[in-house]
Amino acid sequence: MKNIRTISFVLILGLCLAALVGCQESTQTEAKAEENPQQPIIIQGPMPIEAENFAAKLENVEEEKSGNFLFYKGEVNDYPVIVMKTGKGMENTAAATAIAIEKFDPAAIINQGTSGGHDPDLNVYDIVLGKRTVNIGSLKTTHLEDGEGIAPKEWIPMDLMASEGSAGEDKDAENIRYFEGDEALLEAANAVKGTHEEGKIVEGTIGSADVWNNEVDRIQWFHENFGTSVEEMEGAAGAQIAKAYEVPYLGIRTLSNNKTNSGEYNPDTAAANQEYVYEVVKQYISTQK
Ligand code: SAH
Repeated sequence: MKNIRTISFVLILGLCLAALVGCQESTQTEAKAEENPQQPIIIQGPMPIEAENFAAKLENVEEEKSGNFLFYKGEVNDYPVIVMKTGKGMENTAAATAIAIEKFDPAAIINQGTSGGHDPDLNVYDIVLGKRTVNIGSLKTTHLEDGEGIAPKEWIPMDLMASEGSAGEDKDAENIRYFEGDEALLEAANAVKGTHEEGKIVEGTIGSADVWNNEVDRIQWFHENFGTSVEEMEGAAGAQIAKAYEVPYLGIRTLSNNKTNSGEYNPDTAAANQEYVYEVVKQYISTQK
């Protein structure tokens, strides 16, 4: 009898303690949310040279790591901004974007960095605002038999979002899937165009794939068939995930090279792009307040 009473007492005490701790935890979360109720803006950059300049501009920075992804959590003009180094390529970017959305519930995402020109009117240091982003690695080949060779110019676009069925059989999947850049982000970007003195800024189409195209005829084929202004390796992957969660998204890409007009690779363009994106972020914040 005495044993049962002791066990009951210990159990009840345990329950009370658990309730107390739970209550305290939720007060702490609420206090934190009150301290900083705004949803952060996320700035993505694939390589160190495409993220570290912006990260250095943040105030009150805390670093957080998840897998290969590095988050610099800070503030711009007292507004929460998170710069993330995603690593290069589509897979890194898709995973990083999903993790960032789940962890931080962002108000908006800007994916920025360097790119290669597909449009001969664009020069190294010019910047393309991604009115549209498209996966230029999502392709279906034609039917050719053993010994008939390969025909890359005949390959057709493949829309993996067309249906849940087989994209190989589905005629509806033989379309180009464009992801639209967010209007409010585009507006903020256009409003501070004048701050970028090293080149011009245009709205255009960003093409992405885990491919670096150096064949000028192939580059021209994408320019004509997909309307691409530039190519890089991340934008469309982030756009696809942001779209799945309905998070506003914009790609902002400077040309670090352009094979169509002999524009030599210049890594310094990455820093100039971050300077411009910093202006875009300040402008966007001013419209949020
Ligand atoms: N040129 C660098 C490697 C960059 S790897 C070097 O030699 O060390 C590719 C990165 O640059 C990706 O993050 C991609 O988004 C960007 N990029 C710049 N120009 C590109 C181009 N012409 N084609 C594909 N990606 C490009």
